Amino acid sequence: MKRFILSLLLVAPAAAEIQVRLSIKAILSSNGSWPSNTNTIGSTGVNLNSETAVRDNVDWMNSVMREKRYPFRFFLREDTVYTISGQADPYYTMDARSSATRNAIEDAALDDKTTWKWHDDSINIYINDTRSGYCSRPTGGRSAITVGAGAYEELILHEIGHFFNLSHTHSGDGDGNADDWADGDGLSETLPDDADASAADINAQYPGSTQETRDNLIFNVMSYHQPQDRFVWQQRQEMIEVMNDERDPQASGEGFFLADDGADSIFGVQLSGRTYAQRLKTLENAVSKSTSSNDVILIDGTIEVTDGAVFSTPHVWMKWRDDAILR
Ligand SMILES: [Zn+2]
Repeated sequence: MKRFILSLLLVAPAAAEIQVRLSIKAILSSNGSWPSNTNTIGSTGVNLNSETAVRDNVDWMNSVMREKRYPFRFFLREDTVYTISGQADPYYTMDARSSATRNAIEDAALDDKTTWKWHDDSINIYINDTRSGYCSRPTGGRSAITVGAGAYEELILHEIGHFFNLSHTHSGDGDGNADDWADGDGLSETLPDDADASAADINAQYPGSTQETRDNLIFNVMSYHQPQDRFVWQQRQEMIEVMNDERDPQASGEGFFLADDGADSIFGVQLSGRTYAQRLKTLENAVSKSTSSNDVILIDGTIEVTDGAVFSTPHVWMKWRDDAILR
């Protein structure tokens, strides 16, 4: 009798997680210096004014992913923080929190990928001398992210959330008062939010919710409250499904969903496992679809495994939602 409970995760030798590549570039000033903006944002404000600051920020993102046991990690492409010279005018000072700026920089970069160090295999993130940032959603036909050096610790992770199709937990940008609660993302696992709400406002707004549910809003990366440290399951599912699909070039490895209520095929048509809706039934089938040591098989519930089955390809098994039981 074999029975494994994945309450945490099992990592096969040499395996990792889904790896998302970041190509982060600082647009240098006309005299060659890094952007620097001390007008940072909120309680977790950070000035992204050096290579060290950028590396520390990526390390922080991955410390959150690791602590929460999320199945993806972020890597600097070629372990490099790039710089862009000779483009200060006008890009160094254009408001990073602007679709016009995002479009201008992306268009310039696509016209001259060498100068702008644009990499099709990575999320292209440009830092200039301004403040806050702007994203690209997969449905918008854009893929650049612009960020001002005047930032906060969670800013790049927040914009990456949008890159993988996440919406804000609130609707609109707020009016300075916590009085317009709305469901910004349509997800049942995040409560309706207000961009201006404090933790105290949220706790008072939802007296009937558990503290965990309130905290999932208070600390949500896709909110405007700080500090932030989490994506809920529904957000992670959307991110993984988009990594498997529209944003596949920027991610190495795929997530395959496997659940005790899944199916390997319906009316003779094979399911892909690449979305939760297409979740698979058997571990053998999920493993057969894995081609990379960065693949993660996301296991929900109790899975029957054939006696004597041998799995030799490197990949990761990880629980999804409840405990994963293999027997
Ligand atoms: Zn946003």
